[in-house]
Amino acid sequence: MVIDMSNRIPENVVEDIRTSNDIVDVVGEYVQLKKKSRNYFGLCPFHGEKTPSFSVSPDKQIFHCFGCGKGGNVLTFVREIEGVSFQEAVQMLAEKSGHQIPQSPNEEGTEASGQNQEIQNLYEAHEWLTKLYHHLLRHTKEGKDGMEYLQERELTQETIDTFQLGYAPNSKDFTLKFLQNKGFHPQTMVKGGLLSYNEDNGEYGDRFRGRIIFPIRNHQGKTVGFAGRSVHGQDPKYLNSPETELFHKGKLLFNFDLARSEIRRQGEVVLFEGQMDVISAYQAGIKHGIATLGTAITDAQAKLLRRYVEKVIICYDSDDAGVDASYKAANLLHKAGCDVRVANIPDGKDPDEYIHKHGSEAFRNHVLDSSATYMGFIIKYLRRGFNLHHEGDRIRYIEKVLDEVAKIDKPVERDYYLRELASEHDLSLEVLEKEITDRRKKQGREKDNNASTSYTNYKVDKPKEAKLLPAYHNAERHLIYYMMQDAAIAEKVQDTVGGAFNLNEHQVIVTYLYAYYEEGHPPNPGQFIEQLPDPNMKSLVTEIAMMKLQPDISDQEIQDYIRVITAKKSEKDNITSLEKQQKEAERQKDPVKAAQIAMEILKLKQSLKSN
Ligand SMILES: [Zn+2]
Repeated sequence: MVIDMSNRIPENVVEDIRTSNDIVDVVGEYVQLKKKSRNYFGLCPFHGEKTPSFSVSPDKQIFHCFGCGKGGNVLTFVREIEGVSFQEAVQMLAEKSGHQIPQSPNEEGTEASGQNQEIQNLYEAHEWLTKLYHHLLRHTKEGKDGMEYLQERELTQETIDTFQLGYAPNSKDFTLKFLQNKGFHPQTMVKGGLLSYNEDNGEYGDRFRGRIIFPIRNHQGKTVGFAGRSVHGQDPKYLNSPETELFHKGKLLFNFDLARSEIRRQGEVVLFEGQMDVISAYQAGIKHGIATLGTAITDAQAKLLRRYVEKVIICYDSDDAGVDASYKAANLLHKAGCDVRVANIPDGKDPDEYIHKHGSEAFRNHVLDSSATYMGFIIKYLRRGFNLHHEGDRIRYIEKVLDEVAKIDKPVERDYYLRELASEHDLSLEVLEKEITDRRKKQGREKDNNASTSYTNYKVDKPKEAKLLPAYHNAERHLIYYMMQDAAIAEKVQDTVGGAFNLNEHQVIVTYLYAYYEEGHPPNPGQFIEQLPDPNMKSLVTEIAMMKLQPDISDQEIQDYIRVITAKKSEKDNITSLEKQQKEAERQKDPVKAAQIAMEILKLKQSLKSN
């Protein structure tokens, strides 16, 4: 039996938290949803797809994906998408809806809670230091150097407050003493990257000294790390928190928590190279900017972005290193299914400089809105290093472009680039088209829909719900659907059929459902699903609850369903009893009788299959 984690948090509290968090709002923070009749649809965040098969029902407070079959209520969703435990999911939703969770006394002392305690301490220490460093920057003499630097970059007080920028004093034990006074253990703080440890003399000390502090918040808005920029010429120029329990560079995106709603509103996100770019763009009114943390964008980050928006504008520095980084990021994001644009900042400037010099409107109009499409950028990028006046170079360049164009799946788009290439280099369009056909054959892309697309389409076109199931199978599912909506129907079925459904999984579901009603719960598919112990059962019940059936059902229809189910049951029982008789006949050495019974069984089995 599955251990029921919910025992630790009282059920009524869980239920209260669940009902206070509307599933459309919560899912909407991760998935772009569009309303179609009563439900919302979007691209499934759990499997890659191009056509939305992920639906959310506000009435039932559940979600379901017809592509991969995942489904459940708001807690299931948070658990799956954040990769957290049931309790952490409850905790996260509790914070959103402002609920307090009573601490259970038996949690203390166990190993797992020891680790939880450590993580909790690290969150708290980060929070304290964010406030401390910010205060030092804003209000003390020590922070003056930091403040001067930020004012030179023309950051306003408001921006400094919004991002909680701070200053860590140039002392070897200021932070150490502060944390010790607050009761934090230095060893834990070293693990969390807040202090450093000198192995030679066995001493703890401040990690960030004499640096401007940029707090790095996780996607829930909690500080989980710091980036420190030196202002006294110390090396390195930027010192980041190391990888810790809280701080995972490859997964976090700087400013994602603040930018999230704006990203969804504008339907695009701007990916910057540095935190300073994000901050100065924010100050200039471009609030949907994010950045990686001093590393190249990862697959996980690309997928995260794709879950929110299609359009990603890469806005890196326009020096050689920046353009190379753009090329890598563009390819990764393109592969993740994003509509990639690449901005070009004139005169080799970085975004921060450009905004200061030309203002936000110019940045919007001449940089972001004039960004190149993915292919446009790639073609220009490939041109680097070739002297197009030189014939050999020109041919090699054209070959490279053709390789790229051949990868495009949309014929219209291919045609567009081929025409451009043909006119630019005075080539025959037919020849280019033939080159593309040859290349696509070699790449196994003869057809315009490659294998992965058609696989997705197959899944979308044939959702599980629409599968041709035997009549009794459908009857059972339909009945369960109505039983979840209406306690009186459940009672009627319980009296006539009881647990005698034909499919094992349906037997289990109705048993849970009868128990659910007996405990006095009102009809509520979302709440019922939460009480099921097994994830497979949860997704099956969700699938049933999401079926598009008429809202009302007549008594006559219920009777019909029940009849189909019991008839099937008795046929099955008949077979079982005939099989016994057959064995008996064989035992009594009566082959004729045994053969007659065998024929009967065969007929019954055939009729079982056909309806
Ligand atoms: Zn899915």
